[in-house]
Amino acid sequence: MEKHDENALPIHDALGRPLRDLRISVTDRCNFRCRYCMPEEVFGPDFRFLPQDKLLSLPEWERLTRIFVSLGVEKIRITGGEPLLKNNIGEMISLIRRIEGVRDIAVTTNGSLLKQKARELKDAGLERITVSLDSLDEERFGVMNGRRFPAKRVLEGIDAAASEGLSVKVNMVVQKGVNDQDVVPMAKYFRERGHILRFVEFMDVGNSNAWNLKHVVPSRQIIERIHKEMPLEPVESNYFGEVATRYRYQGSEDEIGLISSVTQAFCGSCTRARLSAEGHLYTCLFASTKTDLLHVMREGKSDDELRSFIADVWGKRQDRYSETRLTQPAAAPKVEMSHIGG
Ligand code: SAM
Ligand code: SF4
Ligand code: SF4
Repeated sequence: MEKHDENALPIHDALGRPLRDLRISVTDRCNFRCRYCMPEEVFGPDFRFLPQDKLLSLPEWERLTRIFVSLGVEKIRITGGEPLLKNNIGEMISLIRRIEGVRDIAVTTNGSLLKQKARELKDAGLERITVSLDSLDEERFGVMNGRRFPAKRVLEGIDAAASEGLSVKVNMVVQKGVNDQDVVPMAKYFRERGHILRFVEFMDVGNSNAWNLKHVVPSRQIIERIHKEMPLEPVESNYFGEVATRYRYQGSEDEIGLISSVTQAFCGSCTRARLSAEGHLYTCLFASTKTDLLHVMREGKSDDELRSFIADVWGKRQDRYSETRLTQPAAAPKVEMSHIGG
C-alpha cells in the first residue's frame, strides 16, 4: 500500500476531487417509514437492523473521525437513519467539536424529536441543523412518512431549534403526483420564517423505493413555479463542492436551494465520504461496494496505518454514478439510503 504524502492535504481521488466532507450515519434505525427511503414493505417488523455489537463504539467512532480530519475533512454531517434516536447524540457532537480541524458540523434529522432535543444539541455546540419535511399538508405528510407523524410537530421542532439559536435549513424531497403541489406553499412558509428551503430531486438511492424518472420533478420546473409567484434570481455558489444551487427572492436576501442530483449531476465536485454506523466507508451515495474500517481497526492497526489505508481507498475513487445513471445502471444492489444517510 502506498504511503500518502503527509503534506498533500486534502488528499485527492483518482478524478482529482479532494476529500473535504464526512457524512456519518450514527444509526440505521428510524421512526419514520418514508416511502422513498424505507418503505414499510421492506423495512417492516421483521427487518434486521444492525445489532449493537456491530456498531462502532464511541471511541472508535471518534478515532475514525479524527483520522478523516487529518486527511483533509473539514465538514462533518451527522445523519442516519434518524440520528436523534441516539441517546448520546449530544456527546457525539461535543466530541467532534473538540477535534482540531473541524470547521463545520451539521445534523440532518426528520425533526420528530427536535422539540425535545434542540437545547441538548445547542448545548453540545451544534450551530446548524437540516430538517427534512416534505409537506405542510397533514394528510400528505402523514402518508409520506409512513407513520402518520404530524407535520405540526416537525414545525414545532424547527421553531424550537430556531429559538435555541440554531440556524435551520429545510429539505423537501419532491415527487411528481405525491407532493409537488406543496412546492409553493412550502417556499412561502419558510421564506416568511427566514429558513432556507432546499428542494431535493427524488433519487434512485438503494434498491427498494421503486424509483422512476417519471416521478422526478426537475429543479428547473420548481424554479419556474416559484418564480411565477415570487420572482427569483440566481446566487453564486459559496464554495467548491456546494451541493445546492442557490436562488434568491428578488429584492431580498432570502434564499432557496435546489439539489439536482438527477437532472444536473454534480459528481465533478463531489468531496464527500460516507461512514455507516458499523464503520463501513462508502465513497458514493449509490455505491455497491464498501470498505470495512471497523474490521481493519479491530485488527489493531495504528492511526498511521489507518490513515494510509483510507488515503489509498480515496486515491482510487472514481465514482460518478449520477452522471452515468441513465446510460449505465448499477450492476449490483446499491447501499440503502437509511444505511448511510443523505
Ligand atoms: N432521517 C433523517 C432525515 O430524514 O432527515 C436523516 C437521514 S435521511 C436518509 C437524509 C436525507 O435523505 C433526508 O433529507 C431525506 O429526505 C433524503 N432522502 C431519503 N431518500 C431519498 C431519495 N430517494 N431521494 C432524495 N432524497 C432522499
Ligand atoms: Fe427515516 Fe430519514 Fe429515511 Fe425518512 S428519509 S425513512 S426520516 S431515514
Ligand atoms: Fe458524489 Fe456519487 Fe453523488 Fe456523484 S453520485 S455526487 S460521486 S455521491
